[in-house]
Amino acid sequence: MSVKDNYESIKAEIEAACQKVGRDPSEIKVIAVTKYVSIDRAKEALASGVSHIGENRLEGFLEKYEAIGDQPNWHFIGTLQSRKVKDLIDYVDAIHSMDRKSLAKEINKRAKKPVDCFVQVNTSGEESKHGLAPEEVTSFVKLLANYPNVRVHGLMTMAPYTDDEKAIRLCFQKLRRLQQEVQSHNFSHAPCDHLSMGMSNDYPIAIEEGATHIRIGSSLVGNEVK
Ligand SMILES: *Cc1c(COP(=O)(O)O)cnc(C)c1O
Repeated sequence: MSVKDNYESIKAEIEAACQKVGRDPSEIKVIAVTKYVSIDRAKEALASGVSHIGENRLEGFLEKYEAIGDQPNWHFIGTLQSRKVKDLIDYVDAIHSMDRKSLAKEINKRAKKPVDCFVQVNTSGEESKHGLAPEEVTSFVKLLANYPNVRVHGLMTMAPYTDDEKAIRLCFQKLRRLQQEVQSHNFSHAPCDHLSMGMSNDYPIAIEEGATHIRIGSSLVGNEVK
């Protein structure tokens, strides 16, 4: 399937999910996760109308960025080692994996202006998943006030990979509730008005539960290994 055809059917699914819960599809940003695919395939996504690209490794990010330039919005969605922040920070529009003080400190030091960050939360409790435990989130967000170049744009999570729709939905609902908790504090550094949740397997559910950023790899650009 061409990326264009995939994108058309994803847009139809987004509309259907929005309709179900009375949301406006224009609130949903589709991030094409290009970690499995070539530069050409990423370009095909942009030509199809996608305007957000996501990569989970520094090397992949820089390779795509160098070839494509700063036209799209660039999202870093993987675990970020502090020592790699300096190589990434001038090119990235949003970091979806804010999960520790040392990372905040390094971003604060290296960034020339505030960077939109999503605090990553482990809503499923699975050991393989990264992110803060839900009960740690509010105090961590509070602590981030010490790092003016870190702006808490929202929260991010990954649901378990399962066809148990209920288990998936519970994770997304948990993230939404945490967002409300954070927002109730009115922290000026943490408007936290976005939710990065939903992947190929579960994005319609994520949208029903309030996602603003969905991260889609396999079902949009494919997952053939380069
Ligand atoms: C790979 C990846 C995705 C996209 O996964 P698909 O199931 O291929 O859509 C989304 N988010 C993160 C953090 C990823 O690493």
